[in-house]
Amino acid sequence: TVGTPALTAWIREFARLVAANRDLLTELDSAIGDADHGANLDRGMTAVRKALDGEEPGTPAMLLKRTGMTLISTVGGASGPLYGTAFLRMAAAAGDAGTLDAGDCARMLRAALDGVVARGKATAGDKTMYDALAPAVDALDAALAAGRELGEALKAAVRAAEEGTAATIPMIARKGRASYLGERSAGHQDPGATSVTLLLTAAATALA
Ligand code: ADP
Ligand code: MG
Ligand code: MG
Repeated sequence: TVGTPALTAWIREFARLVAANRDLLTELDSAIGDADHGANLDRGMTAVRKALDGEEPGTPAMLLKRTGMTLISTVGGASGPLYGTAFLRMAAAAGDAGTLDAGDCARMLRAALDGVVARGKATAGDKTMYDALAPAVDALDAALAAGRELGEALKAAVRAAEEGTAATIPMIARKGRASYLGERSAGHQDPGATSVTLLLTAAATALA
């Protein structure tokens, strides 16, 4: 089962991956946006790291809520409210549980996807975070239903997120700044789908 320490390790690993891929995320956003996705998320996750360095949250929900609130107040842009809402929805899904089993983890990530949709109204093929997160959550559910352990199921989710991210390259953006480019947004990988894949990669590392 997954408790607050494992979830904290997940969030810290995501922060590390965001910092390591900051330039890549910004470069991707420079092609179809305003070249700030790496800087935005790195600022947010650095603030999250600091918020966790103080007092350790006592429960999964407290940890996820603190992360979401910190992202909303520090990231800005489109991705701040989207990531923030995702974490707040995960906090609500965790409820007052002290530990989460594999099914709880899958429901938590499904709640994150629902939050992204509620906030941003994206659907499949819009060239957004959705195109990595939705197939990943589906793959996670399918792997668990097939009897896989959480670690293996999360690896399947990462593969689905990677495929979903690659599939954003030919898409024409229909949401966010990239949609202003119309057909000229085709031929570039979506920055938000790329960062969501880092979130899942971190989960496969820390929650297994
Ligand atoms: P901004 O576009 O405000 O500069 P960022 O650069 O931080 O914000 O984030 C851009 C990313 O946000 C995009 O690559 C896309 O994945 C995601 N995004 C934008 N709008 C939406 C939306 N409505 N729903 C889901 N994701 C979105
Ligand atoms: Mg941007
Ligand atoms: Mg911006």
